[in-house]
Amino acid sequence: THFGYETVDEALKEHKVGAVFSSVASSYDTMNDLMSLGIHRLWKDYFVRNLNPGANPLTSSSDPEKGWNILDIAGGTGDIAFRMLDHASTINNDAHTKVTVADINPDMLAEGKKRALATPYARSPRLKFVEANAEKLDMIPDNSVDLYTVAFGVRNFTHKDVAIREAFRVLKPGGVFACMEFSKVNNPLFDAFYKRWSFGAIPLIGQLVAGDRDSYQYLVESIDRFPSQTEFRDMIQEAGFLVPGQGWEDLTGGIAAIHKGVKP
Ligand code: SAM
Repeated sequence: THFGYETVDEALKEHKVGAVFSSVASSYDTMNDLMSLGIHRLWKDYFVRNLNPGANPLTSSSDPEKGWNILDIAGGTGDIAFRMLDHASTINNDAHTKVTVADINPDMLAEGKKRALATPYARSPRLKFVEANAEKLDMIPDNSVDLYTVAFGVRNFTHKDVAIREAFRVLKPGGVFACMEFSKVNNPLFDAFYKRWSFGAIPLIGQLVAGDRDSYQYLVESIDRFPSQTEFRDMIQEAGFLVPGQGWEDLTGGIAAIHKGVKP
């Protein structure tokens, strides 16, 4: 039996992921701060600074008068989008760059829209929210996006390869795919400590703070199952991207990594 191209297992996975993020939407920041000891904020700041949104035209077809057209997939609560717009405005003096935040989960999007009210972009044409599955971005035309970002989202996708191919389709030639995701810790001692922390403390913190042990157990397991840095780099290349250097940069000893690809 199939739901379209999905098997029952895959449909169940999607449903389960949906329930996890509906459940964590409102306690999202508190939990991220507790689980990562606040480090996720530094990673996100670095991710955005490094991409330098709104700097010189990114692709040859970019129009400096229009800024960058950015698609932030699995953008949930707007964490990355607000940072990118702030960076473009304050660092690059660019008032044109715009971000479309796409997420499959309406509760995460509702949280993002609520938070947008506290930013200068609430009613601005520079910020848009759309409900969409990363694997099927029909509303986004081919070759239309300068920068595709996805932070801590890919590990939740049912078909990661399909999502990466969609990223390739929507990007302009010269456009950049940038993904920040939990990854594999390099040092075995640090890894042993990290595994104890994640499998031991995180579900417990989830239970105590958010009253939801299962969702946080899922998060820890999804991190553990995610491909290694090299495997994920290979998937990006297989979709047709050129990768700069080795293809990724480790953050905090490999707890997270930033992978990049450029569409030729
Ligand atoms: N990017 C944000 C951040 O860094 O704080 C949110 C990350 S949150 C851990 C993961 C997000 O991925 C959730 O909002 C979830 O709804 C979204 N998501 C999961 N599967 C998705 C899919 N197939 N397409 C789009 N978004 C998806």
